[in-house]
Amino acid sequence: MDAKVTVKGYAKINLGLDVVGKLENGYHLLRSVMQQIDLYDTIELTEEETMDHGLQITLTSDCDTVPLDQSNLAYKAAKLLMEHDGIKEGVHIHIIKRIPVAAGLAGGSTDAAAVFMGMNELFGLGHSKDELRELGVKLGADVPFCIMGGTALAEGIGEKLTPIGTMPEMYIVIAKPSIGVSTKYVYENLRLEQVTHPDTEQILDAMRRKDLAEMTGLLGNVLESVTIEKYPLIRELKEVMLDVGAAGSLMSGSGPTVFGVFDTMEKAVAAEKRMRQKYPQVFIQAAGIIC
Ligand code: ATP
Repeated sequence: MDAKVTVKGYAKINLGLDVVGKLENGYHLLRSVMQQIDLYDTIELTEEETMDHGLQITLTSDCDTVPLDQSNLAYKAAKLLMEHDGIKEGVHIHIIKRIPVAAGLAGGSTDAAAVFMGMNELFGLGHSKDELRELGVKLGADVPFCIMGGTALAEGIGEKLTPIGTMPEMYIVIAKPSIGVSTKYVYENLRLEQVTHPDTEQILDAMRRKDLAEMTGLLGNVLESVTIEKYPLIRELKEVMLDVGAAGSLMSGSGPTVFGVFDTMEKAVAAEKRMRQKYPQVFIQAAGIIC
């Protein structure tokens, strides 16, 4: 039987997302407090015989909205690692998709991270997580964090990661409306001189003291200034999230997903139910956090 490895790729939310500058090559410099949540894609990797030892990667998914060609980040991750390590065997990737696509939840990045970690195991490559992170940033700013996991401050273009050891107990409800937000459009229309920057140091300090009330009062994402302007539904979802009991609410990444933060799972589940009743067309899901 062919060797097979199964890996979970968790979604992330940004509890703080600040853009502090721009490089000449167009990359933005970030300061972002990233948190993995218990909502995940499952990536199955199977080793396959190759006839001619050429690059052989095949891809399937249970989801019909992810691309199944070379533009898929999971495919790109497999190709990068195969070329880097000179792997002669082939690999089949099957993605069981649970993270909404193009949501600001790093769905593609986490699939790429899962492929890296799964192939590392499947082919016995022996890379450390630090080595995989260094390679991963070539695929996208969120990939290094998805490899590290848990809670972290991400800086630079996403490659400088500082793990955050202590977190208040908290639960999340996400709401992903069916709006297509282009990350490129959001960054291109960001006016840094006009935005209110979140106080990242204070967010981190509140997290270290496990002060959920203070932390939720400090949540901030500079990209909201662009996305909410274009899609007022995001502001509405944030307000309703507070109405159904969230201690704080924010847009994740470049959107359109909105999340609410709750201090108990019971409150999160009750809010999930009320949100589903009010917005039957919106993907609503309660989740714990991954520490
Ligand atoms: P981020 O938060 O890192 O900006 P995102 O959650 O906003 O990411 P993705 O779910 O990664 O967005 O999807 C962005 C685009 O990437 C989609 O338009 C999709 O076609 C493409 N894509 C490529 N590979 C994948 C993948 N494995 N899963 C989901 N989308 C993918």
